[in-house]
Amino acid sequence: MSIPVERIVARPSSLGEGLTIRRALPTRERRMVGAWCFLDHIGPVVFGAGQGMHVGAHPHTALQTFTWMIEGEVLHRDSLGTEQIICPGQVNLMTAGWGISHTEDSVQPGQRLHAAQLWIALPPDKAAMAPAFEHHPVLPVWEQDGCAFSLLMGEWEERLAPTTTYSPLVAVDLHSQTGANIDLPLRPEFEYAVLPLEGSVFVESERYQVGEFACVPVGQSGLLLALETGSRALLIGGEPYEAPLLMWWNFVGASKHDISVAQADWESRSDRFGFVAGAEGRRLHAPAPPWKA
Ligand code: MN
Repeated sequence: MSIPVERIVARPSSLGEGLTIRRALPTRERRMVGAWCFLDHIGPVVFGAGQGMHVGAHPHTALQTFTWMIEGEVLHRDSLGTEQIICPGQVNLMTAGWGISHTEDSVQPGQRLHAAQLWIALPPDKAAMAPAFEHHPVLPVWEQDGCAFSLLMGEWEERLAPTTTYSPLVAVDLHSQTGANIDLPLRPEFEYAVLPLEGSVFVESERYQVGEFACVPVGQSGLLLALETGSRALLIGGEPYEAPLLMWWNFVGASKHDISVAQADWESRSDRFGFVAGAEGRRLHAPAPPWKA
């Protein structure tokens, strides 16, 4: 029986300074995969001398931001007072809850950068929780059938990632230097996406390259993957997110009202989002939502 895999093309977008990203979520065809509601594939890019990624202070609500670093080093600073450099093979997980603000800056100008940055919608009963930040330098890693697995979030067979989750979901990085054929076990209650990060990946015999991804609906118990030599892919999955969810700029909320309030709170410099030390001059402006408050 063949599996109904959907092919979706990511949207290229520029973040300035020669930094092109591919936005896989949300797209017109698909808003979310489980509670994963945003997915940017950043780079790989080699910055010119003196250039890098620099994102000024901006807020988030009702979500977790998740960063998986493949190449390069980025300094995260937030309104909780966190200052954390993330290096290749590491995960940063910031839980915005009621409100947080942060900055992100390349550590060494002129460096390579390759990363995946995702958002996870918090379930309604956690949307207004206290903000938190976690850095995970060590994750479960193992080899199987010529493929290196890194468990970034959730459970995989008997393994458990150290990242805090608030709903059933999973993220796994798959990398093969030699090429690999893998029969991935899936949970029937999860929907999944497979996103090539380097090279190309066959999903159920269909070839996917960087810039596109494969969506797998709920109800499947396994998936055939083949990674070409030197290829890398990100697998994400989770139970479909059923609650109402709106996204505007860097805000997630259950209603237009939630987002309008968050936007007004940020623009009025409310204590809700705190401040990032030393970043007052690099505060991003939150555009008004396209509806009446
Ligand atoms: Mn952010």
